[in-house]
Amino acid sequence: MIDLRSDTVTRPTPAMLAAMQAAEVGDDVYGEDPTVRRLETELAARFGLEAGLFCASGTMANQIAILAHCPPLSEVICEATAHVYLWEAGGIAHHARASVALLPGERGRLTAAQVEAAIRPTHNVHYPSTRLVCLENTHNRGGGSCYDWAEMAAIAEVSRRHGLALHLDGARIFNALVATGQPSQDYGRLFDSISVCLSKGLGAPVGSVLLGSAEFIAGCQRLRKLMGGGWRQAGYLAAAGLYALAHNVERLADDHHRAARLAEVLRPLPYVAEVLTPETNLLLFRLDESQLSAADFLARLEAQGIRASGFGAGGWVRFVLHLDVDDAQVEHVAAVLAGN
Ligand SMILES: *Cc1c(COP(=O)(O)O)cnc(C)c1O
Repeated sequence: MIDLRSDTVTRPTPAMLAAMQAAEVGDDVYGEDPTVRRLETELAARFGLEAGLFCASGTMANQIAILAHCPPLSEVICEATAHVYLWEAGGIAHHARASVALLPGERGRLTAAQVEAAIRPTHNVHYPSTRLVCLENTHNRGGGSCYDWAEMAAIAEVSRRHGLALHLDGARIFNALVATGQPSQDYGRLFDSISVCLSKGLGAPVGSVLLGSAEFIAGCQRLRKLMGGGWRQAGYLAAAGLYALAHNVERLADDHHRAARLAEVLRPLPYVAEVLTPETNLLLFRLDESQLSAADFLARLEAQGIRASGFGAGGWVRFVLHLDVDDAQVEHVAAVLAGN
């Protein structure tokens, strides 16, 4: 099977498993797991922030951050198809009980002007109190799109001027770093908190890290415990994350080239109506369903050993390139597509 459904489907390699087995561990709820500490410290330093908190998932890391940033009666500004809003089971409403101002983005990207226009007047009791802006880079529903650095900096300036916190859902931040060449250190100057996923394209089996100031992360430790995320000898998982950071970051460029290659194959096909130009490892395209429905297309691929996902109504399909798909497999997919 060639599994293009998600970059979460990767399995740890023997070398990663060996690193996990060799990990030095302790009880992380007591703050005594040296490998977890190393992962948190190393990632925070990479992004120019003070501290980190190892979490079970990206959803947990994002939702802890949102809850920490939002006192009662808050409003969060985010893009209409943001993962934090759309795909985290309504967590903003449930955990933070916050209102959400949803803005229409261009492939998931907001502008500073849009953000500024959505901020509620401070001294009018009718409104919720705008407290937090959430950005997503790369943007999942936007097809792995990358923010322009100057626009993010402008959004950070607006947020700071209005006293708002700025959180980055950086589940695929390493894809953005590799695609744009922006140094990771720069991110700490813009964002109050960043969530980073180790189990997407980086190939770790489990885990995300929430980054922020030492004071912010200290508060988040209690919220992680509240959500049932106080774990014990988590160093075995942290070791997989450290291994992934050391070995699997630069190679993300290969996934980006492979997504571009499949985009080229798809574009001239008669049953393909539209291909979003891939910026990273996610490839979104729309079928002309008068010729071939998404369900039939996916069933035909499955019968030929290829898995992909339908991506909403209207014939949209998503291919995700990752560590466990090589050039030979990409060429096999290309041949199958051309023969469809
Ligand atoms: C996958 C993802 C997350 C977190 O997902 P988990 O499955 O909870 O780890 C968060 N944001 C984005 C943009 C994602 O793609």
